[in-house]
Order: sequence, then C-alpha cells, then structure tokens
Amino acid sequence: SSSKNDREKGVNVQVIVRCRPMNDDELRLHTPVVVSCNEGRREVSAVQNIANKQIDRAFMFDKVFGPTSQQKDLYDQSVSPIVFEVLEGYNCTIFAYGQTGTGKTYTMEGGARKKNGDFPVDAGVIPRAVRQIFNILELQNAEYSMKVTFLELYNEEITDLLAPEECSKFTDDKSKKPIALMEDGKGGVFVRGLEEEIVYSANEIYKILEKGSAKRRTAETLLNKQSSRSHSIFSITIHIKECTPEGEEMIKCGKLNLVDLAGSENISRSGAREGRAREAGEINKSLLTLGRVINALVEHSGHIPYRDSKLTRLLRDSLGGKTKTCIIATISPSIHCLEETLSTLDYAHRAK
Ligand code: ADP
Ligand code: MG
Repeated sequence: SSSKNDREKGVNVQVIVRCRPMNDDELRLHTPVVVSCNEGRREVSAVQNIANKQIDRAFMFDKVFGPTSQQKDLYDQSVSPIVFEVLEGYNCTIFAYGQTGTGKTYTMEGGARKKNGDFPVDAGVIPRAVRQIFNILELQNAEYSMKVTFLELYNEEITDLLAPEECSKFTDDKSKKPIALMEDGKGGVFVRGLEEEIVYSANEIYKILEKGSAKRRTAETLLNKQSSRSHSIFSITIHIKECTPEGEEMIKCGKLNLVDLAGSENISRSGAREGRAREAGEINKSLLTLGRVINALVEHSGHIPYRDSKLTRLLRDSLGGKTKTCIIATISPSIHCLEETLSTLDYAHRAK
C-alpha cells in the first residue's frame, strides 16, 4: 500500500523488515542461509523444509532491508518522514520487534564507530532522530522545549533508566524500585515518579541515552540477560511555540517513542519452562497485546484492548488516532533461526 493510500484509509501503521548479515561464527561454520530479501519488490522469503520438500514462503511488507542495508538508508527511508510528523504535532512510535540477536538494539541505538566526521556511521535510529529533530528546529529558528524519558518494562514492572543511582541499584531484584503507572482520569496514563530530563542539545540526549543503556546493560549482566526479556522505551516530547497567521500564539506538542521490545522468542517458548511461567506470561502479555492493539487499529475494530498490558497502556496516547507507528521486524538469515524468523514474519505481517 502506498503511503498516500494509507493516509486516505487512515491507516498509520508501517511495517518494515530488516535482515541482519551473517555473523563471523555463522560464516566460519558455513551456516546455510534460508532468507532472501528483495528490496525492490519489498518481499522477504524463507525456505522451509517440510517432509523433504522445499517450501518457499514469501511475505510482502511496506519496506524490506536486506543484510547489506546501512543504518542511514533505513533511517532516511523509514524514520525520517515520521520525525517530520512528530514536529507537526503527531505522537509517533517506532518499534523494534524480533528474536534476540537479530539486531533490535543495533537498529535502535547502533554503534559508536566513527569514520571522519563526529557522527558515528553505524549510529542507529535514536541518535539519528535526535540529530534530525535539533537540525530542523534550528533551521526553523523555532522556540521550543524538549524533554526525554527512558524506562524499562520487565515483568510488567517499570524501572526508570534515568533515575539517580541511589534510587535504582541493580544489585538484586528487591532494590530495584518499581514506579507506578497511574490513570490521569482523562483516559490517559502517567508514570508517577519518572525522571523527565529537559534537554537543550543533541549532545545532551546522546549522553542521557548512553547513561540509560549502560544501566540496562549492567542490569542485563546482573540479572541474567534481563534485557532480552525487557522492553525499553525512550521518549522525546517536544513543545513548539507557533504563531497563527492572525498572530495568535499556540503550542504544538509532538512525541516520539522509540521502543526496543523484548525478544520475540519469549512468545513462542512461553510455558515451556515451569519456573519462568509467570515471567514468560507477563512478557507474552505485552507483546501479544501489542499485536492485538495494532491489529484492531489496522482493522478499525471498535474495541482496542489497550488496557490488557502495561506496554500498551503506556503507549496509549501514541497508538491510534492522530498517530503514526512504524514496526521494524528484525530477522536472522541463518537456518538455525528459521522457526523464529517465520513467527516474526507472521507477527509483523498481521500488523499490516
Ligand atoms: P538484539 O537487540 O535483537 O538482541 P543486537 O542488536 O544486540 O540484537 O544484535 C546482535 C549482534 O548482531 C550485535 O553484535 C550487532 O552489532 C550485530 N548486528 C545486528 N544487526 C546488524 C546489522 N544490520 N548489521 C551489522 N551488524 C548487526
Ligand atoms: Mg537488544
């Protein structure tokens, strides 16, 4: 569907797929590649062996990025148009969805590898969005204010990744202080006690992002790979002062949520291990509810089950209505990931 058609139909969900390259181990072991990407036809196909027969399953998406795609290309083609919408006063969300190890964090945050300038060539969606937002606002000579929040959702509990150290030492589960999600009485929600950092420059945001993701990584090692089972949400809210042609002042407000979702393997393997049943159930709840909410929005069904998970409650003001959503589904080309790849493609395709 072309973006013009989408707009006319009022469908504001874009689904794209990105396949990571083979890693060094896979190359060394000559691991068979079972995924092929046709960027021009916007098609991904996976070869599956069923009863000794090769079955080729093909899926179409709004955009497809193959293993050689660069961070810049994905950003320019898929995210940059959304940033313009944010500055027009839309609430927008970019999700990275996929199996652990397929490039969600690489796509969202990226690396710090610098070539000659001072902006990393492998910077991901978040730093690029930040840079673009400041560039546009400066060009427009706009009067604005900006604030960011960064939180993690694990086991339906919220942790503030920007909280001062003394509030959240990740030494054990108990000392992590969960903060509360409250109804605001007007159909919206707010997170009580969440740090909001007012920011004035792109460099400030990069530092905040680095601080928050370092915290997430620390938690990951201390809490046994927590990050593959947690969602992180980085949000930027911008207020821009504008003058109408009549000379009246008004404030335009837009918000961009950048969400690195829990590994999608947690959906398919839930219930497999007793001890993790609750945790898997809770992870399921957010990922599955997100899928249902997006389906309901795409199909214009009356009831949208926002309330069924914390993730969808948190993002309620940015899903549906005057909003734009982009889901980046990340996959691996390797035969060892085929089952998860097919379930990721199915999930992503249902969101279209
Ligand atoms: P996830 O967050 O989904 O668990 P990561 O982003 O941590 O996965 O990626 C796993 C590894 O693969 C990392 O070493 C990352 O740098 C690498 N990687 C992922 N996607 C790409 C890509 N498109 N190009 C190059 N390297 C990638
Ligand atoms: Mg990750």
